Amino acid sequence: MVVGDVTTAVDVLVLGAGPGGYVAAIRAAQLGRHVTLVDQGPPGGTCLLRGCIPLKALLSATERYAQTRQEELGAMGIHAETVSFDWAAMQSWKQGVVDRLVEGVRRLIAGNRIEYVYGAGWFMNAQEVRVEGEHGSHRFKFEHCVIATGADAAPIPDLPYDGKQVFVKVKLYSPGKQLLNGVDPAALRLVQAGLRKSGVQIATNTSIDSVTERPLVISRGVCPRTSGLHLDAVGIEVAANGGIAVNNMQQSSVPHIYAVGDCTGGQALANIAIKQAKVAAEALSGQRVQFAPLVTPLVVHTTPELATVGYSAEEATRAGYNIVTGRFPLAANGRALTLGTDNGVALLVANADDGALLGATLVGPRVGDLIGQAVLAIEMGATLTDLSEILYAHPGLSEMLLESAEGALGRAVHILTKT
Ligand SMILES: Cc1cc2nc3c(=O)[nH]c(=O)nc-3n(C[C@H](O)[C@H](O)[C@H](O)COP(=O)(O)OP(=O)(O)OC[C@H]3O[C@@H](n4cnc5c(N)ncnc54)[C@H](O)[C@@H]3O)c2cc1C
Repeated sequence: MVVGDVTTAVDVLVLGAGPGGYVAAIRAAQLGRHVTLVDQGPPGGTCLLRGCIPLKALLSATERYAQTRQEELGAMGIHAETVSFDWAAMQSWKQGVVDRLVEGVRRLIAGNRIEYVYGAGWFMNAQEVRVEGEHGSHRFKFEHCVIATGADAAPIPDLPYDGKQVFVKVKLYSPGKQLLNGVDPAALRLVQAGLRKSGVQIATNTSIDSVTERPLVISRGVCPRTSGLHLDAVGIEVAANGGIAVNNMQQSSVPHIYAVGDCTGGQALANIAIKQAKVAAEALSGQRVQFAPLVTPLVVHTTPELATVGYSAEEATRAGYNIVTGRFPLAANGRALTLGTDNGVALLVANADDGALLGATLVGPRVGDLIGQAVLAIEMGATLTDLSEILYAHPGLSEMLLESAEGALGRAVHILTKT
């Protein structure tokens, strides 16, 4: 890379190498574009380096540790009195997972002949970005640009972060009448019971003033990371929450500049950033595409796990649907019992007029993977009859979907049906 204030003409310039940025870069390169990808750090962004992946790796390690201390293991004939954990080793294993994935992304970037530039970029005008990096300052003159600069945690003004690490007992405070607004209360009760069993205290209907303990984690959503980009120099429209306004092709108000992921101020999820990235890369390469998913799956990685998609019963009724519901408890699923667990449920909501699936709420092991089946069903317009006609692997957790669909049709076999 040339040092000094020089201008390099590039085809597609992508700012930010999180899941939004690196995926946009790879998809554009697959479509024959010459791509330059800019980030201050290694590829991966919040998701790979600090969010989704490290969190799930630590969860999986701590969950295994917790399992060894449960009485169910004794019932299975396993005794593990001397199990202990080494926090430093756990962290280093987690880092190994992160490093392996980052290395994989690096290889994909190199393999797709994408130029990777270390530095922070900001707009000089609608054609040029200046990148300040450790090797100096460069200007890039681009044909198309994709902004994928992510978001920062939104602070609460009266509770600033102190950055200290502490180990404490966990107490969850929520201002609402339940954790996770909008989630079916029956499913939530099971999650809360699981949390309480693992020692978590839950306080709902709390105001921030009543919190007397020193908070460990404040979770108040995110603020799009757009303030240092000099978007005003380009005339890019920004919404009240700081997010870059885009149309359904991810185009900003300046049509050759696109934005994807958390910096657009929508739901801060990696799956959304990834899909929007593909749409932006394809749209700027001349394809007629749109970001228009019918539903977005949400997973809460508690023990037991909670996954939802589409409407809950209450939301569907509020939206004016005449609904029919199906419910199947995990305790009646053979595979769940062989896994040593029975705390969970499948709840389905369908349109009573035509049987089309409107929503699913699942609680139990690995339901974050299982929810994909309900997403596909809703996107394909599948009905309860469709769900009950196909074959499911047995014994399998996916049979919860079968039996809850059959339950809604009044013919579930493995629970008593009211006659
Ligand atoms: C603890 C945690 C857990 C999470 N778990 C999940 C989960 O399980 N599932 C899920 O779907 N989502 C999860 N998320 C959210 C997910 O991580 C984000 O939605 C996702 O990373 C957004 O991708 P992005 O590419 O838009 O932004 P980011 O991943 O934030 O990437 C933005 C990149 O842009 C770079 N950048 C910023 N400014 C500039 C600039 N001026 N020039 C160049 N580069 C710049 C940054 O260095 C960064 O690498 C989690 C988030 C956190 C914090």
